[in-house]
Amino acid sequence: MAFEGLADRLQETMKKLTGKGKVSEQDVKEMTREVRLALLEADVNFKVVKDFVKRVKERAIGQEVMESLTPGQQVIKVVKEELTDLMGGEQSKIAVSDRSPTVIMMVGLQGAGKTTTTGKLANLLRKKHNRKPLLVAADIYRPAAINQLETIGRQLDIPVFAMGTDANPVDIANQAIAKAKEDHHDYVIIDTAGRLHVDENLMDELQQIKTNVKPDEVFLVVDAMTGQDAVNVAESFDEQLDISGVVLTKLDGDTRGGAALSIKAVTNKPIKFAGMGEKLDELEQFHPERMASRILGMGDVLSLIEKAQENVDEKKMKDLESKMRSASFTFDDFLDQMAQVKNMGPLEDLLGMIPGANKMKGLKNVQLDEKQLVHVEAIIQSMTKKERQDPNLMNASRKKRIAKGSGRPVSEVNRLLKQFDEMKKMMKQMTNSQSGKKGKKGKG
Ligand code: GDP
Repeated sequence: MAFEGLADRLQETMKKLTGKGKVSEQDVKEMTREVRLALLEADVNFKVVKDFVKRVKERAIGQEVMESLTPGQQVIKVVKEELTDLMGGEQSKIAVSDRSPTVIMMVGLQGAGKTTTTGKLANLLRKKHNRKPLLVAADIYRPAAINQLETIGRQLDIPVFAMGTDANPVDIANQAIAKAKEDHHDYVIIDTAGRLHVDENLMDELQQIKTNVKPDEVFLVVDAMTGQDAVNVAESFDEQLDISGVVLTKLDGDTRGGAALSIKAVTNKPIKFAGMGEKLDELEQFHPERMASRILGMGDVLSLIEKAQENVDEKKMKDLESKMRSASFTFDDFLDQMAQVKNMGPLEDLLGMIPGANKMKGLKNVQLDEKQLVHVEAIIQSMTKKERQDPNLMNASRKKRIAKGSGRPVSEVNRLLKQFDEMKKMMKQMTNSQSGKKGKKGKG
């Protein structure tokens, strides 16, 4: 996950303050020094760090902390608020125009993820906001770019307006908008040309499109992995085009996070979305407060709940719950449950959203190897239907067959059977204690 190093260091620093009955100026000094180093190491812009530390220091040795009953907690609160502010404060919404359609212009350097993000954004607008977007291929220099957008459009079943490479981008945009009106699209998302570097020709072209089309939003797509470069790119694009927001891509990688923490402060333009993977549903609205909370290890329960609501089939979960209660949970149910959790994204990311999860020693050492899940799946899939329903059938020759079928050692099959057995016992205990029938079983 992004921010990992920064998160570890900040959490380490904050831990020293938790529960402190008194916070001296010396404590604050030490804390801010560590925060400063952690931010610089995460590749946050030097000036941004300086201002940030200054604000935290002022507030931390100010009244709100010193006169508080829990000064340690109070300092942490200050850091969280300032981090939130740094990334943009309130979560900013996407424009909805009075006229229809709302026009969004996507700009950015080649390779930043512009075309992918154009598709992702359309997908998100349709899925979450019930909108009917039209995509527009306005990169006339690279036929491959037009093809790429068309492929994405087909994958999503969202129409793409293209006029090939001979038309002028301004004409393409204007005709696309006319077409969108005709076909009752409420959003038009224009994928413009990119270059390897910021150059004058590109900026001229983008300015022309902007002046003619008057988009409601100009989103700059930048690659979070490029750190300070991303910030510089954002600064130049903003100077020339007065962008309305930033989409930060590749935040799923091991970026140090400096771009996310500097862009708002340097350009004063909000980060609106974050790209969290290559797939077309991996775009998230950027919530500064939730992100600050994740960085400080306070979890992000809201995002977790939203993810669950989006990806988990509620009825299935209810069924599973009742099966657990009646202890009739089988390996088939287990597979089902795994599939639901997998839908929600990488386990590691999910753990990052649970408050304090990263502080639990046991959890930190758990190998979050997604491969293991695949192995478990393979083992269960190598069982017969009967075996899945009734693990008691298992004997040595069955285990051997399952091991062979799944390509895993018998010891692993045994381990899974044992874990499953323990899980069922635990469910039984929980159900019994909940219904107050502890120790009194109907059947003997
Ligand atoms: P463009 O040249 O700016 O249009 O960039 P593309 O949309 O072609 O993207 C360049 C590469 O980055 C592609 O391989 C994308 O799959 C990848 N990419 C885009 N967004 C993300 C993201 O959020 N996470 C990851 N991991 N890869 C991304």
